[in-house]
Amino acid sequence: MPIATVNPATGETLRTFEALGTAGVEEKLALAEAAFRQYRTTSFDERAELMRRAAALLEEEGEDIARTMTTEMGKTLVAARAEAAKCAKAMRWYAERAEGLLADEHPEPADVKDSGGARAFVRYRPLGVVLAVMPWNFPLWQVVRFAAPALMAGNTGLLKHASNVPQTALYLGDLFHRAGFPEGCFQTLLIGSGAVEGILRDSRIVAATLTGSEPAGRAVAATAGDVVKHTVLELGGSDPYVVMPSADIARAAKTAVTARVQNNGQSCIAAKRFIVHADVYDEFAALFTEAMAALRIGDPMDESTDVGPLATEQGRADLEELVTDAEKLGATVLCGGQRPASQAAGWFYEPTVLAGITERMRIHHEEAFGPVATLYKAADLDEAVRLANDTPFGLSSNVWTRDEAEQDRFVRDLEAGGVFFNGMTASHPAMPFGGVKRSGYGRELSGHGIREFCNITTVWHS
Ligand code: NDP
Repeated sequence: MPIATVNPATGETLRTFEALGTAGVEEKLALAEAAFRQYRTTSFDERAELMRRAAALLEEEGEDIARTMTTEMGKTLVAARAEAAKCAKAMRWYAERAEGLLADEHPEPADVKDSGGARAFVRYRPLGVVLAVMPWNFPLWQVVRFAAPALMAGNTGLLKHASNVPQTALYLGDLFHRAGFPEGCFQTLLIGSGAVEGILRDSRIVAATLTGSEPAGRAVAATAGDVVKHTVLELGGSDPYVVMPSADIARAAKTAVTARVQNNGQSCIAAKRFIVHADVYDEFAALFTEAMAALRIGDPMDESTDVGPLATEQGRADLEELVTDAEKLGATVLCGGQRPASQAAGWFYEPTVLAGITERMRIHHEEAFGPVATLYKAADLDEAVRLANDTPFGLSSNVWTRDEAEQDRFVRDLEAGGVFFNGMTASHPAMPFGGVKRSGYGRELSGHGIREFCNITTVWHS
């Protein structure tokens, strides 16, 4: 994939970039390691000051970077502005909380004495240079939710961003530099995915985090396993959105639209499979389909647009294939299912609702990364749970029910890293984010996220 800014709303190539050569990569690796040796000794107060400055710069420059993101990957400008603001908030959250989250932990003194120790504690020390391989769908947020905790913990980072968001990638390296982080603390590498393996094998890289597709995750984890390096993987999802009879159906249907089409349908935690109890299926299906069909498709820079283009031509082709396969095998298209006639250029696709899904269809098992929803009718709670878990993925889940016994049952039985009731899944700095099954492993955000890239050290005094 060439490293280039190609506007998905028009298909026009706006800028191309040369990939960094071997010497350029070597220079940045050496700088990252040298920076770590010094930076690891800085205090939490010093790091927090720098992180707050980065947050302030991002707030000042929010409009410009939002326009860059919209130009590079097609999310609506309204969503891009919100993403920039969310990043600044998370940076401040970690600036305030990192010291507390990484405070020494003291076991019960009696437990230590019983084992012959005088004193013992756990200290969270930084690990070193971490490689971050990141996707284009939330081009600022995916990076910041790694960078803010990793830098606050005293690590340094190297970013290999997706090849279609080079300007956002360069902005991120520049942002931390201008905020005053010592040179080398956080650098962008403009490289293709083929260069990742060699860098990951370099002894100066101690760990890696990857957000993206399953094949990319598998490749990075295989290399990291070979050289025994820690990884965090945040891969795809096909989150269920379960609606039970006690739910407020009108609200559930309205939220379902946002949950499916946020970020033009390209979010790992978007609700993708809508599993509705038979008693309320017809009502939900009618309201949901009507609202999906009414969405305004168009120029993502226009503030009245609900759904912009998909980020890449390949992404649209992949989505079209999933819909065609389902139709061939008997699915019913309740709305959409086409490229919109109103958009001649760019990689647009209509918000689509498919019903009558069976196990033979690819879309039942694969992630639909675009504004396509699948509807399922569940006879009862047991069938709703079974359908929700009938996927290789396990990122998050959404359930609409006001019945507390049902809520307990879903928390007990859903195979996912999150269960969100009467609303939609979202990431919050204070709560862990990540999945089970083929959605990956490890956690981002919260105390769990910042401790992923720490050397959890036992200190023992005899
Ligand atoms: P990829 O997984 O290919 O890209 C994500 C990142 O991984 C990019 O930086 C990419 O670099 C890099 N990468 C890709 N292959 C390798 C490899 N073998 N070794 C090392 N790094 C690699 O995502 P796509 O853009 O191709 O999207 C495909 C699908 O992935 C989507 O349809 C969706 O299902 C899923 N996806 C999930 C995301 C999530 O948030 N969980 C985000 C994006 C995609 P480069 O850009 O240079 O190829």
